[in-house]
Amino acid sequence: MLNNDVILPPATIGIIGGGQLGQMLALSAKSMGYKVGILDPTPDAPAAQVSDFQIVAAYEDQAAMDELIQRCDVLTYEFENVATTTLKSLSSRQLPQGVDLLAITSDRLNEKNFLRQHQLPTVAFAAVNDDHSFEAAVRSVGLPAILKTTSGGYDGHGQVDINTARDYAAAQELYTQTTCILEARLDFTKEVSVMVTRTVTGNVRVFPLSENQHSAHILHRSIVPARVSSEIVQQVVQAATTIAKGLELRGVLGIEFFVTEANQLVVNELAPRPHNSGHYSIEACNVSQFEAHIRSICGLPIPEIRQIQPAVMFNLLGEELSLARQQLPQHPEWHFHDYGKAEIRPQRKLGHVTILGPELSPLITAALAFEKQDK
Ligand code: ADP
Ligand code: MG
Repeated sequence: MLNNDVILPPATIGIIGGGQLGQMLALSAKSMGYKVGILDPTPDAPAAQVSDFQIVAAYEDQAAMDELIQRCDVLTYEFENVATTTLKSLSSRQLPQGVDLLAITSDRLNEKNFLRQHQLPTVAFAAVNDDHSFEAAVRSVGLPAILKTTSGGYDGHGQVDINTARDYAAAQELYTQTTCILEARLDFTKEVSVMVTRTVTGNVRVFPLSENQHSAHILHRSIVPARVSSEIVQQVVQAATTIAKGLELRGVLGIEFFVTEANQLVVNELAPRPHNSGHYSIEACNVSQFEAHIRSICGLPIPEIRQIQPAVMFNLLGEELSLARQQLPQHPEWHFHDYGKAEIRPQRKLGHVTILGPELSPLITAALAFEKQDK
């Protein structure tokens, strides 16, 4: 029997945001026979290049949002900073992920408080709005710390490292503009992440753990499966399951963690959408994070997730895209992804490459060899 929550192809899926995550979501949806519409202010946005239509307008434009709602059977988003006010009137069938998920994950303070309520470990933190709360936060959190805007940040944007009193001026510049959170800076040994999703009937599906290597706060490469102890894997799966249930999750959620020297797990942040560290799943898993997201929001079942082969994914940032394009003839083993962004800017995510093989170490060597040429 078909349940009322099931949305079958050729229904139309509307995606708010037309970047690379929207593009890979759209490709999955299209291959399953759905129609896809995109809302994005940039004409010919990456996702729109592979979709049925685009509404070119600002995300806050209520008339444009109403048009998207009217032309689509179900809506989703590829980033968390969507104004919930434009989506409040939607039913759970129209927006299966709901607005609460956005309200929690688009605000670092709400997110940390949600984690605390569920007894999940986070770094020490405190809210900062003015000189007085900043001084109190430095006292309670300690130094070194990182001051982050509570919303709107990505790839390290909106973050200031606070090591000594010399950094207070830069901090003040940030917190006088917008609400911030001060986080203790953790001296971790590894960063790992997982993608988790949940079906309409409540089955939780957790992807394998990615080990993530960042530089300058930007993800450079993911190694999957992560080289961590089985205790860490178990704790991550348990935390992901608690979070998915606590949020009554629909769609994919990316969860970032730190692993400390003492093998303790700390939750860093949540992203209510497919995640950069999950791109490997396109080629390396029985179901990709993008297909899992579409299945979850459309009320379809999702099988247990299996990884078919070890994988390394590296991002193509800025000019690395041109370099990779030139080297395509030498790399039949590359799964090469170019997002079709119009403008090449330094450190901008423009594409990625995934390589698979029976052993991780030659894959890591190959990824490092590519990245080194760019230095
Ligand atoms: P976003 O991914 O939204 O830019 P994050 O909070 O994940 O923001 O920060 C980006 C990166 O900065 C993290 O992946 C990590 O490498 C580093 N970082 C962030 N917060 C901390 C922290 N409290 N302690 C140590 N490193 C951190
Ligand atoms: Mg992050």
